[in-house]
Parts: sequence; C-alpha cells; structure tokens
Amino acid sequence: MKILVLGGGGREHALVWKLRESPRVEKIWCAPGNGGIAAEAECVAIDAGDVAAIVAFAEKIHPDLTIVGPELPLVKGMTDAFRQRNWPVIGPSQQAAQLEGSKVFAKEFLARHHIPTAKMYGTFHSPAEVYKALNSVAWPVVIKADGLCAGKGVFLAPDLVAAKDFVEQVMEKNELGPGGRRVLLEETLEGEELSFIILTDGKRYAPLIPTRDHKRVFDGNQGPNTGGMGAYSTDELLPEELRETIRLKIVEPTLKGLAADGIKYQGFLYIGLMLTTSGPKVLEFNCRLGDPETQAILARLDFDLAEVLSDVAAGRLDPSKMLWKPGAGVCVVLTSGGYPGKFENGKRIDGLTSLGQFTGVKVLHAGTRLVGDAVETNGGRVLGVTTAAPTLDGALAAAYGAATKIHFEGMHYRRDIGAHPTRLKAAGD
Ligand code: AMP
Repeated sequence: MKILVLGGGGREHALVWKLRESPRVEKIWCAPGNGGIAAEAECVAIDAGDVAAIVAFAEKIHPDLTIVGPELPLVKGMTDAFRQRNWPVIGPSQQAAQLEGSKVFAKEFLARHHIPTAKMYGTFHSPAEVYKALNSVAWPVVIKADGLCAGKGVFLAPDLVAAKDFVEQVMEKNELGPGGRRVLLEETLEGEELSFIILTDGKRYAPLIPTRDHKRVFDGNQGPNTGGMGAYSTDELLPEELRETIRLKIVEPTLKGLAADGIKYQGFLYIGLMLTTSGPKVLEFNCRLGDPETQAILARLDFDLAEVLSDVAAGRLDPSKMLWKPGAGVCVVLTSGGYPGKFENGKRIDGLTSLGQFTGVKVLHAGTRLVGDAVETNGGRVLGVTTAAPTLDGALAAAYGAATKIHFEGMHYRRDIGAHPTRLKAAGD
C-alpha cells in the first residue's frame, strides 16, 4: 500500500510510526510532515488544508489510502473531494465535520437527538444580545465561539466582568477571527473529563481504548490551557459499567442521530465527556483523533493499522481485528519555553540520538524541523515522548527517563502526567 497522511504534528507522526509497522505498507507521504516524520516518510511541502493542492498531489502519486489528521481539511471538504473521485480516504465529510466546525450545529444536533449535554442558554449573533442574556445565567457560565478558533474559543467565565471581556475580544474585536461571529452560552458542568474516541465506517463502530489528556500548562492543573501537555491510556480509566452507559446513552444515539439526519459519518469521532453526578454528558465533538491522546492510544496498538483503516475506507470495519496491548500508554509533551504564550523557534534539540537505552520509548515529533543534520524546535509543542508498558508506573518511568535525556533551551514539561485528579487533590497540589 501507498499511503498519504495529511498533517504535521505529533498525531500524524504517531500514525506514520504505526502504519510503517504494517507489512502491507510500501510507501508513506506526509503533507506537510515535520522534522521527525521526515525520517520515516516522504514529507511534501503542501499545506494539509489546501484541498486543491492536495488533490493535485494525490492525482500524481495515486495513494491507496489517504488519512486526514487535523480538523481544518475536513471542515474544508477534503474527503468530499477524494470521495467524488472514488479515492479511499479516512475522515468525515464536510457536512459531518460541522459537529466540530460549528458548536451551534453540535448543540442543536445533541438537543434534537436527546443526547445528554450541558443546558444551553441560547445562541447569539451580536454582543448586545449576549450582554442581555448574561443577566439571567448561573455563574460560572461557559461561553463558546461557534467556529474553529484553534482551541481558544471556549471560556469558562467566573463573573460578568470576565464574560463581557471575552465577548468583547471575540465578537467586537474579532480576535479569534470569523469563528467568533456567533457565540453560545451554556451551563458549567462539573466532574472529571474523559475522551471517548470511536472509529466507524458509517455502519459499524469500535471504541478505541480510553485516554485522558492534561490541558493546563503546569503541574497540578495550574496555568493556562494548551493544546495538550500529555496523555495516558489505561483500561482502568473506564470501568465496564460506565463504558456501557456511554455506549448506550451517547455513542449509539449519536450514530443513530447522524443516520436519521442523513449524514454519513466515516472516520474517527472524538467525544469529549464530562462525568457528572447525573451521568456522562457531551462537552464537544471532534471529527478526528485528538493530539496527544492519539500518541498514548497508538502506543498500545496491537493490530495492523493500515489494514483496519483500509477496511474502514471500504465500508467493512471488523471491530474484532482491533486488539490492544494490556497495561498503559503514555505521552509526555515537551514544549517550548513560554508556550502557550509567546515562544521562540529555532532552538537546537540535543539528546535525541542517545535514547537507544530506552527500549520501547518513541519520541514523536510535533513542532520540529530539520536544518542540515540538526533538529530544531518549530512550534509550541515540540516532542511527545511516548511509550507503552504493562503498568502505568512503568510507562511513566520510561517516558520520564527518556525525557530527561533530551534538551533544548527553554524546554518545559509537566512532571505529573498520568496523575489522577483526585490523587492530585489528595496530594495537596
Ligand atoms: P470544548 O472545546 O467544547 O470541549 O471545550 C474545551 C474545554 O472547555 C473542555 O475540555 C472543558 O474543559 C471545558 N468546557 C467546555 N464546555 C464546558 C461545560 N459546559 N462545563 C464545563 N467545562 C466545559
């Protein structure tokens, strides 16, 4: 098989890593890829969101399968362009990708199909309407910009002053771009968050193993939100009973709702959940794999990814093929100093070649580039030190052992990946 992977972050490096383990795979291209992917696939300098350019490239190379990593190409209709040409591709259509591309679309979908979610106060097209509605909400309130805002479109406002400030930035100053033209207000849910990801061919589906990510930049869940500072996967994250509740109350109604609305969904569907005292509720949908959850999940993969994804593209997913290593998967993200605020690129990364002693540890690249033989930082999230082991403690020890051998100026990472929130509270963090 010849495979084209779209995207250039840690998630795509993880996909390339596991696709290469398949004896069926002969060649992989990645657009645009990064400094680490370049060692394992042919990187092509095309923006993954440029539908016309990607189609033109695919016309030349004839991939047997194309896998879309990030959301932007999906929201722009990449898979529709492929399917019109009968080219095998993994990812939902533009219409289905609105589950992620429009928070209002997702909320209306959830309401229409009676799927548990936070109560919505309303959707608003003008700041004046929002300011008025803010007079009759319970605090804290959640404000969500409707469109894609690079992870910055959700704000948990503690009070009226903070809420108005956010609305002003988003709707009056357009600081998040067109995604902020419309906002919605919803109640704040309390509980622990859990990511539940499924793979579906439109008819059958299979849940991936459960993961939890760590969004705040500092240990003990302090500091601003990031794209993700790390993730871990253990089966214990999701007791059997809760898994059944999620399947029955959330996953199956979602798939039936999509079918009832005439929306065919194929690919990965990421369901962000809040485990509240009145049961799991949907916080968000993403129409693709999460990053860095993918890294922690794929570390435990024990099947032929290329084969299973080809099956999905052909509409014949066999969930029984999807086997996982027992134990734990871990990804510790190493970031540039200052991230998620201002940071500098171009810092030389040392220590990558001295990791041979850490068997089973894979350093996945996110924001890196090759300059001659050297690898330099080229983004906020730079590397994801990833591993699987029979126990969570074993996986963490291996990942952190390897992380201490890597160095670049300003490097930062959390020391508490894999720590359970209640364990953190008990420890007084
Ligand atoms: P979203 O992109 O909608 O998942 O929002 C990003 C993050 O905001 C989530 O992972 C939650 O931490 C938080 N969040 C979103 N909606 C709510 C809500 N209704 N209640 C509490 N937290 C929320």
